[in-house]
Amino acid sequence: SDHYLEYPVSPAHMDWSRHYPEFFTLKNDNNDQVSSTQQNPPSIQKKVEFADLGCGYGGLLVALSTVFPDTLMLGMEIRVKVEEYVRERINALRAQNSGQYQNISIIRMNAMKFLPNFFEKGQIRILKPESIRLGSSREFNVNQLLSEYAYVLRVGGIIYTITDVKDLHEWMVKHLEEHPLFERISEDEVETDPVVPHVRTATEEGKKVERNNGDKFLACYKRIFDNDSD
Ligand code: SAM
Repeated sequence: SDHYLEYPVSPAHMDWSRHYPEFFTLKNDNNDQVSSTQQNPPSIQKKVEFADLGCGYGGLLVALSTVFPDTLMLGMEIRVKVEEYVRERINALRAQNSGQYQNISIIRMNAMKFLPNFFEKGQIRILKPESIRLGSSREFNVNQLLSEYAYVLRVGGIIYTITDVKDLHEWMVKHLEEHPLFERISEDEVETDPVVPHVRTATEEGKKVERNNGDKFLACYKRIFDNDSD
């Protein structure tokens, strides 16, 4: 259960300097460290642009960290032990590779809920949801969840779904096709997208499927412009 998890009241209430200290710490003229939260108005602070929902052991975050070193990336994970593991993994990587892996972090949360408490409208450029597979549960409304994803994604931002389960893939494609704010991206675009190879191979799930020589079904959808609300 997640009722004891804490959520920020709004994205403005989230203190990201704790997660990405290198990006939020500036030096003043005396070379003293000053918090950029004190120095910079929130509008010019760097924001999280990649969210890995249900990130598991963090393989994708770690792989993408050095590919896009200036992009802040966040893993969201509901299991306490897994969140702790990833936090320690990132701390170790930071300690062993000076100046690197400063752009990735993890938070423990239920990614099916409260995304708009963490992210502003249009903040996210890359969204990799895992928890969409919980769609089999009866109370769950997939269109509502997709609308929440559409809200946090900027126009042109991409949602990457991948699974080795064909039925699940078809179920996700069906719902994404039906949603007015998503459009499937072409095969050509998929093949040249720099994130795709990592989505295919860097996650722990992806590695498992590879070991078993299983199929992987990938579907990438772009957040499109909406005349009514954008
Ligand atoms: N994305 C990783 C990968 O591909 O290797 C992990 C996949 S694993 C099958 C799914 C992960 O999502 C698990 O670690 C699980 O704890 C997490 N998870 C499931 N439901 C979640 C939720 N509502 N919010 C956050 N994480 C969730």
